[in-house]
Amino acid sequence: MSTRAHNFNAGPSILPVSVVEQTAKAILDFNNSGMGIMEISHRSKDFEKVIQEAQADLLTLMGLSDKDYSVVFVGGGASLQFSMVPMNFLRKKADYVVTGEWATKAAKEAKLFGEVKEAASSKDKNFNYIPQNLALSGDADYVHITTNNTLYGTRWNQMPNVGNVPLVADMSSDFLSRELDYSKFKLIYAGAQKNVGPAGVTVVVLHKGWAAECAKDNLPTMLKYKTHMDNGSMFNTPPALPVYVSGLTFKWLLKNGGLKAIEQTNNQKAAMVYGAIDAHPEFYKATVTSKTDRSTMNVTWRLPSEALEEKFLNEAKARKMIGLKGHRAVGGIRASIYNACPVESCQALAQFMEEFYKANK
Ligand SMILES: *Cc1c(COP(=O)(O)O)cnc(C)c1O
Repeated sequence: MSTRAHNFNAGPSILPVSVVEQTAKAILDFNNSGMGIMEISHRSKDFEKVIQEAQADLLTLMGLSDKDYSVVFVGGGASLQFSMVPMNFLRKKADYVVTGEWATKAAKEAKLFGEVKEAASSKDKNFNYIPQNLALSGDADYVHITTNNTLYGTRWNQMPNVGNVPLVADMSSDFLSRELDYSKFKLIYAGAQKNVGPAGVTVVVLHKGWAAECAKDNLPTMLKYKTHMDNGSMFNTPPALPVYVSGLTFKWLLKNGGLKAIEQTNNQKAAMVYGAIDAHPEFYKATVTSKTDRSTMNVTWRLPSEALEEKFLNEAKARKMIGLKGHRAVGGIRASIYNACPVESCQALAQFMEEFYKANK
């Protein structure tokens, strides 16, 4: 493989090199079968093993039991989950905490299926913080949060207390990035392309008891979680290649010490980039005002002028640092430093930031 770029793309994004290499081999020849992974039947024994191991490995990583939770692989992206969650579980009312653009979109879809109460929003400050006080209904069918706000660089570092109301989370951009008590959630979903694998598969981890008790039944077959749970995500042809790659990523995480270890590395990486920002606060302005709301996955900041931001991006690119342009909703710079982003890339970025400061202050 040629030298890899320092890949700070927000999604689709960097994957572990070893996973990419194994995938490249398996695309040509899977298990010495003379056929590639994209060319075999999803009903074959070989593929069944792939998908079942992926499901089991994921639950192991998250510290969940298959007695209580199902892992469902579906298409349609996290965006389809904005609809599937309320379609299946919103009977009367749901509470949504609106912490960014994705959360806004999730709440918008839910309104098609019932009453939506905005329990809190950080829109008043362009989503640059996580709201502390939630006005919860108490009798909602569920509370929906977005654990990491990809565009704005905020993250829930302390999960909200929602009492006995089922908690549902969009974890697309911080999925498997840290240890959490995942049993606090009844449903977790994540598009694969941020932290897990290629675009094309969405991972849903769903509490079986809640699904059995509360999910609606009079829905189109493919849009019911039950269909996918009952059939091991093989009701129809699953996105086989993305499932395969996601499975390899789960094994990569397990082999390297699980979520505890990746969380430590992620904290170390984030500390490097935030350290470079905080060293020169008059030059690098973190867009997230409260340090306790900072994401370890998406780091966002501004420079004194847009001209300097453009210069920064150009010079970064010359050093093979790719994907640093901030989302237009925030502007400035965003470094997405997902699980697979190596420590060396964060080191290189921090060093460049220091040099750029000295040359342009
Ligand atoms: C990227 C992203 C989405 C959208 O994912 P798709 O798979 O493209 O639909 C939703 N939520 C969050 C938090 C994201 O980062």
